Amino acid sequence: MRIGIIGAGQLGQMLGFAARELGDSCTFVDPGTSPPAAEAGEILQAAFDDPAALARLAATSDVVSYEFENVPVDALLGITDQVPVYPPPEALRQAQDRLAEKRLFERLEIPLPAYQAIDSLADLESAIATIGLPLVIKTRRLGYDGKGQAILRDSEQAAALLEQLGPVDLIAEQWVPFDFEVSAIGARSTRGDVVVYPLTENRHADGILRESRAPVDNPELASLAADYMSRLLNHLDYVGVLALELFVVGEQLLANEFAPRVHNSGHWTIEGVAASQFHNHILAVTGRELEPPTARGHAGMLNLIGKMPPADALPACGQLHNYGKAPRPGRKLGHITVVAESATERDRQLAEIVDFVTKSTAG
Ligand code: AMP
Repeated sequence: MRIGIIGAGQLGQMLGFAARELGDSCTFVDPGTSPPAAEAGEILQAAFDDPAALARLAATSDVVSYEFENVPVDALLGITDQVPVYPPPEALRQAQDRLAEKRLFERLEIPLPAYQAIDSLADLESAIATIGLPLVIKTRRLGYDGKGQAILRDSEQAAALLEQLGPVDLIAEQWVPFDFEVSAIGARSTRGDVVVYPLTENRHADGILRESRAPVDNPELASLAADYMSRLLNHLDYVGVLALELFVVGEQLLANEFAPRVHNSGHWTIEGVAASQFHNHILAVTGRELEPPTARGHAGMLNLIGKMPPADALPACGQLHNYGKAPRPGRKLGHITVVAESATERDRQLAEIVDFVTKSTAG
């Protein structure tokens, strides 16, 4: 089948490789001159919401999907009468606005941190009084990797913080003293079948994902996460892969946000599961049956941020993915995956990889 994908970053590249293995072909719309997905299909160089490029994509594709969360929903709605668009644009609309997203979690009885919409200093003062400090203040729209966020610890700083984040719609959230962070990754087919990948533990630094480990050895948390995932997928009449990020507090899970796309915290599934998140996303959007997301062992993933290590010196246990991007501080350039027979051995291998990357990219 011919799959049109809006966005041609590394997620597009990995979707393109998965599609190629399944005998499908991908065409990407992206404004970049040599985006990572150029290795995996044809590129239509244009803005994500360029009407002519999207019309051409719709005319030459059997289905259109997206790998990028900030695609304007109206641009997608402009082509839905020509071609199926999966995941459903309505899911993207909810995910693009943190307030809508939180209200959806509430409607589905998925627990979440206390929050309040902030439109003025008076709103923020009332959030300080009702939720308490510290508060995490986030822009309602267009935030990613911790961008558009600040922590308010002192009520004296409230006015300055509002000034710093600018005249945009904001949300204040309870600062959660979580034990650790996890993500649930699930997929739903056009027939409504749901699969959920083993729960993944994630470690962030400066708001950017650094390391993931799976499966999390806690069946109760895993089944709770799978239940929340199924509620979301079914409610949204979803087709494709969705990622739900959660905070673990004791035996409780609190939903942080969801992404209506394949996700960085699921990169380990390329080696760690026979049917990766990319494989199942392609199967889902092309109307095929999903494959079981059974883990092959214990996987770990390290993101390569800002600088690439030398590939020829990579420890034998690591599988390197190079997205082919120009290095820049804070930019995700690639990742390394390890898969081992035990969690202890996985942790040892990941530590070896972290040590190798730290030493070979220092200075
Ligand atoms: P987000 O952009 O919402 O995914 O936030 C990026 C990261 O900031 C999360 O992965 C957490 O590490 C941290 N974070 C976000 N919201 C909160 C919160 N309410 N309490 C504690 N940490 C948070």
